[in-house]
Amino acid sequence: MLIVLGAMASIALPIVLSIQLARTQGLDEQLDLARAYAEGLVQRADAAADGIDEAVHTLAAIADTDRCSGAHLAAMRDILVSQSHLQVVGAVSGDAIVCSSLGRTEPIPIGPVSLVTSRGVGIRPSVTLPFARDQQFLVVEAGGFVAVLRKELLLDFTTVAPDVSLALYARSTGATLSARGHLDEDWVKATRNGASLAAPMNGYAVATHASRRYETGAIAAIPLDHAHQRSVRFGMVLVPVGLLAGVCLAGAFLYLSKLRLRPATGIKLALQRREFFMAYQPVVELATGRWIGAEALIRWRRPNGEIVRPDLFIPIAEESGLIVQITQRVMELIGRDANRLFGAFPDFHIAINLSAADLHDIDMPQRLRRLAAKTGAQNSNLIAEVTERAFVQVDRARSVLSELHQFGVDIAIDDFGTGYSSLAHLESLKLDYLKIDKSFVDSLATESVTRHVIDHIIEMAKSLDLKMIAEGVETEAQAQFLREHGVQYAQGWLFGKPIAFRELVDRLKLQSLDPELPCLTAQRP
Ligand code: C2E
Ligand code: CA
Ligand code: CA
Repeated sequence: MLIVLGAMASIALPIVLSIQLARTQGLDEQLDLARAYAEGLVQRADAAADGIDEAVHTLAAIADTDRCSGAHLAAMRDILVSQSHLQVVGAVSGDAIVCSSLGRTEPIPIGPVSLVTSRGVGIRPSVTLPFARDQQFLVVEAGGFVAVLRKELLLDFTTVAPDVSLALYARSTGATLSARGHLDEDWVKATRNGASLAAPMNGYAVATHASRRYETGAIAAIPLDHAHQRSVRFGMVLVPVGLLAGVCLAGAFLYLSKLRLRPATGIKLALQRREFFMAYQPVVELATGRWIGAEALIRWRRPNGEIVRPDLFIPIAEESGLIVQITQRVMELIGRDANRLFGAFPDFHIAINLSAADLHDIDMPQRLRRLAAKTGAQNSNLIAEVTERAFVQVDRARSVLSELHQFGVDIAIDDFGTGYSSLAHLESLKLDYLKIDKSFVDSLATESVTRHVIDHIIEMAKSLDLKMIAEGVETEAQAQFLREHGVQYAQGWLFGKPIAFRELVDRLKLQSLDPELPCLTAQRP
């Protein structure tokens, strides 16, 4: 379930990101465009202002005091030819043009100056002329001369979509000199300080740009619809890319989760390839040192010869449910190794580790019974080692263990003291052995707080009438302590490491011939 969710998230995330990316890409692109429009507008306005500047200088440089002299009129005509965007160049008197490139005319009223720049240039942003009443003109006045240009001319960008707003304004007052499309007061206000900006505002991608040489500023605003359309277009490219990335990511996720599950897959394969075998660790009688039994411990040899430790793969097998198959294999292997063993060594025992799941495997008792038959086991030749964890479902444990008891299998509680145990449960389970965990044996040599726990465990085992097997005995001092405290049996490197079945049998044969043997070979590698 988690893997499916993870894989779905792996697909969804890149798509969401690509939609998000398409969205920001769309907006970014429109802001860039608006910035370019605003800059273009300022450039054009600057060029026009440069031309007007130059014209005024030319006209002012003519020596004749009559600003409508022949020389002036000729110069005006020249200017008009060289600056085609200008409609009229003339001389002004009061609020009227008195002569122009067209010659001396009736005064043409142009109304009052509405804006004077810091350089003394007068601006009339919206003037209607008698010969072109349907148009609006921008009239720039300096030194008694005027230059007249069509307002739209500055904004006449054929490549700009018709719903894009463009405006040229005077930075000093915010008054628009020329504008087209919707113009929001907020945009003008936001740009009055002369800083260039580009941001989404009131449904538009708005950019402003200020002239460095003149007191003009420009605004370009593109409806955000454009950005959305672009986003959709970007999305058409990015979302499939995102989808592809998502599928790749999901693949990677599944691959990784498979890797995580690989140990279980590896265990399954190992079962198929028969890579498991058993080792047997002797259990000795502390009083005599005689080998009275052995614990069967599983071993996994990989095809490359590497031996995998059971405490690495048993938990994985338990988690994945494969432990039941492993236990089944363990019984098969013991059956093969110890075929008719107890006929030859009737006082010996073999202990088999069972996991919690094994107690829920309805076929397990039957298999153990077959193993008993194969090995010639009588009462107490087989021991089932069960950890406290398996006793959590105490009713189940009780019924399975009593079934095993019925056909002569003894029960040992393994790793005692490391998990959950209720004394009442232990009493009701009718156990035979208590295995004292290695950690308590280890603590004997220390001054730790657990140092005395072993005393209580021993007392408890005695009160429940359980035989004790101490685990992980490595030193003679530990063995001595255990012996003195009435622990009957022990297991550990002091007496013997887990060995191959052949070695075990060789040793048992010697032991049955020579009663003194245990003392001679107590220490094995
Ligand atoms: P366990 O049942 O407590 O087995 C005892 C472990 O302690 C064994 O490790 C044994 O080799 C190790 N041991 C014995 N004496 C000494 C000693 O003196 N010093 C030290 N340091 N270690 C000692 P092993 O064989 O690696 O097994 C580890 C665990 O794996 C076992 O702990 C048991 O829980 C599990 N296991 C092993 N074989 C099987 C199996 O066939 N079935 C199941 N269900 N679990 C198994
Ligand atoms: Ca054990
Ligand atoms: Ca143990």
